[in-house]
Amino acid sequence: MNIPVHKYDAVIVGAGGAGLRAAIQLSEAGLKTAVLSKVFPTRSHTVAAQGGVAASLGNSEEDHWHWHMYDTVKGSDWLGDQDAIEFMCRKANEVVVELEHYGMPFDRLDNGKIYQRPFGGHMSNFGERPVRRSCAAADRTGHAMLHAMYQRNVKANTQFFVEWMALDLIRDVDGTVLGVTALEMETGEVHIFHAKATLFATGGAGRIFYSSTNAFINTGDGVGMAARAGIPLEDMEFWQFHPTGVAGAGVLITEGVRGEGGILRNSSGERFMERYAPNAKDLASRDVVSRAMATEIKEGRGCGPNKDFVLLDITHLEPATIMKRLPGIREIAIQFAGVDPIKTPIPVVPTCHYQMGGIPTNYSGRVVVPQGGDYNVAVPGFYAAGECACASVHGANRLGTNSLLDLLVFGKSSGETMVEDIKAMPASHRELPKDAADVSLARIARLDSQKSGENVHEARLAMQRTMQDHAGVFRFKDMLAKGVEKIAEVEERVKRTEIKDKSKVWNTARTEALELENLIEVAKATMVSANGRTESRGAHVRDDAVDTPEHPDGRNDQEWLKHTLWHRDGNRLDYKPVNMKPLTVETIALKKRAY
Ligand SMILES: Cc1cc2nc3c(=O)[nH]c(=O)nc-3n(C[C@H](O)[C@H](O)[C@H](O)COP(=O)(O)OP(=O)(O)OC[C@H]3O[C@@H](n4cnc5c(N)ncnc54)[C@H](O)[C@@H]3O)c2cc1C
Repeated sequence: MNIPVHKYDAVIVGAGGAGLRAAIQLSEAGLKTAVLSKVFPTRSHTVAAQGGVAASLGNSEEDHWHWHMYDTVKGSDWLGDQDAIEFMCRKANEVVVELEHYGMPFDRLDNGKIYQRPFGGHMSNFGERPVRRSCAAADRTGHAMLHAMYQRNVKANTQFFVEWMALDLIRDVDGTVLGVTALEMETGEVHIFHAKATLFATGGAGRIFYSSTNAFINTGDGVGMAARAGIPLEDMEFWQFHPTGVAGAGVLITEGVRGEGGILRNSSGERFMERYAPNAKDLASRDVVSRAMATEIKEGRGCGPNKDFVLLDITHLEPATIMKRLPGIREIAIQFAGVDPIKTPIPVVPTCHYQMGGIPTNYSGRVVVPQGGDYNVAVPGFYAAGECACASVHGANRLGTNSLLDLLVFGKSSGETMVEDIKAMPASHRELPKDAADVSLARIARLDSQKSGENVHEARLAMQRTMQDHAGVFRFKDMLAKGVEKIAEVEERVKRTEIKDKSKVWNTARTEALELENLIEVAKATMVSANGRTESRGAHVRDDAVDTPEHPDGRNDQEWLKHTLWHRDGNRLDYKPVNMKPLTVETIALKKRAY
């Protein structure tokens, strides 16, 4: 078969914040750069980010990158790598100012400087009191950021392939990455993108769960492709649940609503957070609030006919305040919950929001794998950044506004590394292996010939229900073990999916079937990794590892201060040390994580 080949210096899969930031670096260095995206760049999930991007600019009060670093290590429950965290926090001011120079319309203080607001877990002076560190453009920070960077890329002549879906990584016999295969969604044809350097910036995979704040396109394609190509996945047991997703719809209601005075109530109208977090109450950290809500629901104090949600109440606020400070949220409540929050509380549930784990990288953006006793051997030609990557700066729990920062810092550093690596390579591309597209063609041929198989929607639903019930906010030993079995059963179904519509042009049934093959890899990695880690840390909390005599807060540093690596081959686990050594400062020593 004659497959069209497109030759580029660099190929980037993903046009969200991470992909666009890296592309600027490459195109402005004069390299021929292609960016592939399933959707128009400015529709990537980054567009939905509301709260802001963290940087210790100190525009309203004193701040320091070292304090930000401390907060991030603590937020990660000490699982984050301290070299990468120092790198990110030190670079924050530079990348935010750069973004401003690209034309990002930040909100301003009266003196003209960038406006900053407080956010959960961001403190001054090593954990003393909340500090204003989140740089924001109203409640549309991600939107503004994505547009500013897209325009900069158009100026730099980055070539966009919009509505193209990357299918598989192309690796040479020695493991070097030589590009990707991709489906042109409009025609249904498979093409090859042949590159000297390939970056994955494919975003999160929140769609493995039934209830998620993530866009429908967040199907973990990069993570799935990497796993199929033999790259182990790091720390996949750690998923952040946001306390307030609209029940049934999953759409996010920002933490800012509780910041404005919103209160969570159970079926008897009780402000239950007073029992769980007497000081911070409704504004305790995300994992604490989510677990309190899950407990209320589990113990029968949920609301509605099925007692499966709680209420977020702002009816005591002045209507004028709601209209001024939370207009977007009111609209979401009306549209997705059918209630006007001025008069009626909003039904909410903890909702899957963010994946802390992903494709293992170092802080230069290189993908690293274990080899001969060394855990950080770079895979030639392969890079990853953004939510699909694990650098690892978020460890077991990410702080709000640190993800947009991660996109800028590691988007830029991976772009810089790629420029450097490409410039050191011979002028001509390495030859493609003859079978470069075989895996992808076989996947498509299987779908084309499959008769009387599994329905894609039903198999996906079975996966999402299993993940929600067996690996949710709270985890239970027996449920995790059962979850591993159930996900293996779903995987068998995914191998036999059938699409009735075999046409080629804009066949969304086919793309959904292909996406499911990525989702299931993420689901397996999550369930198996969570089952393996028998402690509680950050977002991963197990019933058999809380309040034990040896480990009162569930965390067990003697045995578990290490990163999980899940290998698809053999569905097995392996572990690698956490890097506790920062670049220039002293190690932030282990401590109990309390707010
Ligand atoms: C509702 C919501 C609000 C948030 N608010 C904040 C906030 O205020 N502050 C903060 O720091 N973080 C926030 N986050 C988290 C943060 O927005 C995300 O982690 C981040 O935007 C992810 O960026 P990304 O560049 O990695 O991926 P994305 O922005 O998700 O982009 C992924 C890109 O990859 C492309 N892609 C995927 N698969 C393929 C494929 N197979 N082929 C081709 N292209 C592909 C997609 O088309 C897309 O262009 C929020 C997240 C959500 C869901």
